[in-house]
Amino acid sequence: MTKYVFVTGGVVSGLGKGIVAASLGRLLKLRGYKVAAQKFDPYMNIDPGTMNPTQHGEVFVTHDGAETDLDLGHYERFIDENLTEFSNLTSGKVFWSVLNKERNGEYLGQTVQIIPHVTNEIKSFIAKNAKLTQADVMITEIGGTIGDIESQPFLEAIRQFASDVGRDNCLFIHVCLVPYISGSDEYKSKPAQHSTKELQAMGISPDIIITRSDGDCGEAIRKKIALFCSVKEDCVISNTTADCLYEVPLMLHQNGLDKVVCRELGLKNKCVLTPWKTLVKDIRSRKGVTKIAIVGKYVSLHDSYLSIVESLNHASYACHTNVEIKWIDSEEITDANAKIKLTGVQGVLVPGGFGTRGTEGMIAACRYARENDIPYLGICLGMQIAVIEFARHVANISDATSGEFEKSDSNVIDLMPDQNGKILGGTMRLGAYKCAIRPETQMARAYGSLLIEERHRHRYEFNNDFRDALTHAGLVISGTSPDGRIVETVETPYNRFFIGVQFHPEFTSRPNKPNPLFKAFVGSAKETRL
Ligand code: GLN
Repeated sequence: MTKYVFVTGGVVSGLGKGIVAASLGRLLKLRGYKVAAQKFDPYMNIDPGTMNPTQHGEVFVTHDGAETDLDLGHYERFIDENLTEFSNLTSGKVFWSVLNKERNGEYLGQTVQIIPHVTNEIKSFIAKNAKLTQADVMITEIGGTIGDIESQPFLEAIRQFASDVGRDNCLFIHVCLVPYISGSDEYKSKPAQHSTKELQAMGISPDIIITRSDGDCGEAIRKKIALFCSVKEDCVISNTTADCLYEVPLMLHQNGLDKVVCRELGLKNKCVLTPWKTLVKDIRSRKGVTKIAIVGKYVSLHDSYLSIVESLNHASYACHTNVEIKWIDSEEITDANAKIKLTGVQGVLVPGGFGTRGTEGMIAACRYARENDIPYLGICLGMQIAVIEFARHVANISDATSGEFEKSDSNVIDLMPDQNGKILGGTMRLGAYKCAIRPETQMARAYGSLLIEERHRHRYEFNNDFRDALTHAGLVISGTSPDGRIVETVETPYNRFFIGVQFHPEFTSRPNKPNPLFKAFVGSAKETRL
């Protein structure tokens, strides 16, 4: 029988509800429970796949190919369970499904309404994920802030769900901001009280309130919140700003979160914190700095590259170095200024992206890295950039480009022949695919294995028409689809580390299990002497 935890947020957005949900998931896993997580996003997009990364942050791709909210990346990194397409639900997806059923006559002529039709759709999504995952505990985060119009059907659905499965099997956690007023040097509980009252007016009485503040808001404030919000005193848990995300589970444990969650849900296992403590010890004992440049076009919002940043961090724990990121806007780098822009940089990473803007700058950064033997990791678009750069400057295909930027006879990157002519929406390669690695390559050394599986999210591919020309010029095709047809990874034979991968290794990196490619990249960058 699955137990359900629902996490809501109050007062302001951006409180780190996702980190709380993910941290609780890890703590329950450390107690030996099977944990699943899902997120409800009240916006109207069907999924975040088409949203601008500089507005919404990165799109996190699951193993089964769903394009989801970046919070799911936190769940996977903290809980270390592969999530599925049933892990992210938006209002758009709910309405889409209800309206399709209505058009198909599935409601048998009834008046279709928010309650019960939309709420039933949401409830069945929760139940479906519980059944699919067979989790002991399923954590559901409701995006947005209490009081938002869009989130109301989701709140009504979880209220009903709790009475359907029994209140003993459900727990409501409300994460609230507790602001600090510097003039009077005190923390204030009133916003938390108001937002809890608003939640209670929707029929949901939180069992646990998490106070989010920079410093400790103090026992007196917690007691006051408990009294005014009808929550047990030990169920008001303090969540202060931590130096590193991965310290949050330990902090919440120390403040009693998993203890009260288990007590309220009737779960008995003990918590074994040792593996997580070891991780935090490794994080804190790093020495020295390795400087890595990320050259992309969405650098104005670092969340656009969240999983890449986290993967670099994970690798830095294993390589016992601190990674310092230099953000470089690819529209601002050229062959002429690359040396200045990349001064002091020990590794260059060109991440994924869409469209033409900024790609010439990425090519300039890639060229500088290759010619100066600075470790280069090209991810998805970054791999395509490496192929174009190599074609132009080594294989003498001076007008080499991608079919995404310009249609020409020198599209070294292009749609596969069977993709041509199809509408854009249907042609993305999404989710995990196997990749066969050629022995004795940089890739083979990095992964220590000749068959790997990584997640994809792209439309264009290496154009096989140029395979001979590029390999004759020295490009090494170090990874392909198992049938050899699709080029998945390329590298040069003479650089210490120069790899482009068509997939996204950042989605499988975990704090205590860094992705091998990132680990090899950071390890190699650490050795760069400037
Ligand atoms: N725009 C490129 C493509 O569609 C790369 C996509 C990416 O980097 N995720 O193939």
